[in-house]
Amino acid sequence: MTALNWKNPELDNEIGSEVKLTYGFGPVPTKNKRIFYFDIDNCLYERSTKIHDLMQVKIHQYFKDHLSLDDDEANRLHMTYYKTYGLAIEGLVRNHKVDALEYNSKVDDSLDLKSALKPNPELREMLIKIRQSGKFDYFWLVTNAYKNHALRCISFLGLGDLFDGLTFCDYSNFPIVCKPMTKYYHNVFQLTGIDFEDKEAMGQQYFIDDSEINVKAAFDLGMGNVYHYVEVDKEYEALIRKEDFNKYYGEGKIKLVRHILDVGKDF
Ligand SMILES: [Mg+2]
Repeated sequence: MTALNWKNPELDNEIGSEVKLTYGFGPVPTKNKRIFYFDIDNCLYERSTKIHDLMQVKIHQYFKDHLSLDDDEANRLHMTYYKTYGLAIEGLVRNHKVDALEYNSKVDDSLDLKSALKPNPELREMLIKIRQSGKFDYFWLVTNAYKNHALRCISFLGLGDLFDGLTFCDYSNFPIVCKPMTKYYHNVFQLTGIDFEDKEAMGQQYFIDDSEINVKAAFDLGMGNVYHYVEVDKEYEALIRKEDFNKYYGEGKIKLVRHILDVGKDF
């Protein structure tokens, strides 16, 4: 366990711009504490920020350049990999032996986050309120991005001082382990001291993500309080019509929220 402090060179001393993670990337020194796990991208900021689009453009270009595809083929393959693996890079590494860190530098790290992400005081206030509820021992970030992008995001959002640690997707590993793989979650639980075979301990954990496959995986693993943040109307409409909707979103199961601030109503 090493604390992580990171100062964003693109910002001065705005509130929450300095990232301070007490337990860094883990492990924590405790067992079976109560943890709220947060996804970052399209979850702690809205999809309607330009980031999603900026990223799509960069990824699309990467598919085109590195696999010599036209726009249609690039788009199709990108979507296939995203839906199959939860992450475009996962498909690129598995099927095309792409250098993931080079990809990361060309895609995530090159995004102009400074223009796209602004501090979110309401979200900051909500997170502080949830912390002050005394229900949680730790707030933990769980992302499919590489660490650089994760740190930059929470810094630009002014939330850098509100989390205890971060689990990121290590693109330098092969094969890449990311959400919704069980292995990824088990790694998160190990690093945060949760015995994932202990039903009671798992039942106390909270998790929020905007990805359907990620929340379903968290629910299937026994996390007791799972939020699915569905911002886009079209996705919401499609989701509630799915055959397995009741299996996953019925009473006492995954909670659907249409806005991240709705989570605060539970505390
Ligand atoms: Mg996300």
